[in-house]
Amino acid sequence: MTARPDRLLAELEAPRALRRFGSGWYAGLFAFLLGIAGLGLVLSLRFPALLSTPELAPVYRSGLLRPAIQAMILASWALAVVSLLLGRYRLLGTSALGLALCASLIGTGAPDSSAAGPRGLFFGVDFFILNMALSGLIFAPLERLWPHIREQRLFRGEWQVDLVYFLLSSMLVQVVAFITFGPSRLLLAHSEALAGVRAAIGSLPLVVQVLAIMLLTDLIQYWLHRAFHRLPFLWRFHAVHHSARAMDWLAGSRLHFLEIAVVRGLTTVPMFTLGFAPEAVQIYVAIVYLHSALIHANIGAERDWWGHWIATPRYHHWHHAADAEAVDRNFAIHFPLLDKLFGTFHLPPGRWPSHYGVADPVPVGWWPQFLYPLRRMGRR
Ligand SMILES: [Zn+2]
Ligand SMILES: [Zn+2]
Repeated sequence: MTARPDRLLAELEAPRALRRFGSGWYAGLFAFLLGIAGLGLVLSLRFPALLSTPELAPVYRSGLLRPAIQAMILASWALAVVSLLLGRYRLLGTSALGLALCASLIGTGAPDSSAAGPRGLFFGVDFFILNMALSGLIFAPLERLWPHIREQRLFRGEWQVDLVYFLLSSMLVQVVAFITFGPSRLLLAHSEALAGVRAAIGSLPLVVQVLAIMLLTDLIQYWLHRAFHRLPFLWRFHAVHHSARAMDWLAGSRLHFLEIAVVRGLTTVPMFTLGFAPEAVQIYVAIVYLHSALIHANIGAERDWWGHWIATPRYHHWHHAADAEAVDRNFAIHFPLLDKLFGTFHLPPGRWPSHYGVADPVPVGWWPQFLYPLRRMGRR
């Protein structure tokens, strides 16, 4: 008999014919997801200093969060019961019941979440749930409505690996933000002379500021990305991102931690040091989260003339192509114009890559992939 986690995975990954509406699969899946979200959020409410993100404090203060969590837990109970009554997906249903039970026992009536005062290390459990819920609610339906590869499923091969990347980068939001801000912090401390320039930039219209941030970060990103492809030492880290063989909204999360640190730390320097308004920075952060999920998504459009001006799924999928014609092409994240300027643009009309991935022997799993470039360095 196989272990329980394996059987739960088998139920989640059930073939399409066995998870039609009425089989209990959808009820079980949503009960399970709502159970996890409910449990995570009651824990964030109970231990705000350790598990909640300070930037989400307004959500807690709004007074809407507690009733919303209670509704989620209630829905999880109800859907789990429906799933169990329909019969086929017992482990999914019972796991959801277990999660809903734990969440109910902890409850939402606990300590207030204001978590004011100095904070130590925290994990963004609430940020992970919000990020996952928003991305999933936007992209999972879009991938079903307009798929590029119709047969590809939500639970495709190696989905757990990419979920771990998504989980860790959201949970470690504080560490990632600290590293991201590192180079800018250094520059800010030694550039008081730029105060006039900063005041001028900060007074520009918001739209202009957001566009300027996008262009400046993309310009730095373009050359860094190209370096990650061209220099063997850096390629070993970036090969992890390219090792994904299935492309969807979750696949873009697969990034080695060193790459996140270097790329974020350097691309955000203009954004943090040139005096852009905090609102412009916040809008840009929201855009970059959504746009990078979108360009990896399994969303198809054969005729996308706009792919010459703004990065589309087809444009970035060609960057991930294993086809020889597409090697070292399409480095930009927002503006393909940069590839046109620097001679790396590739978007053949009406065609998609035949397959994705790299020839490098990148192992499967977050930890083996974390060690992969370091081991290869040791071997040299
Ligand atoms: Zn790349
Ligand atoms: Zn990518």
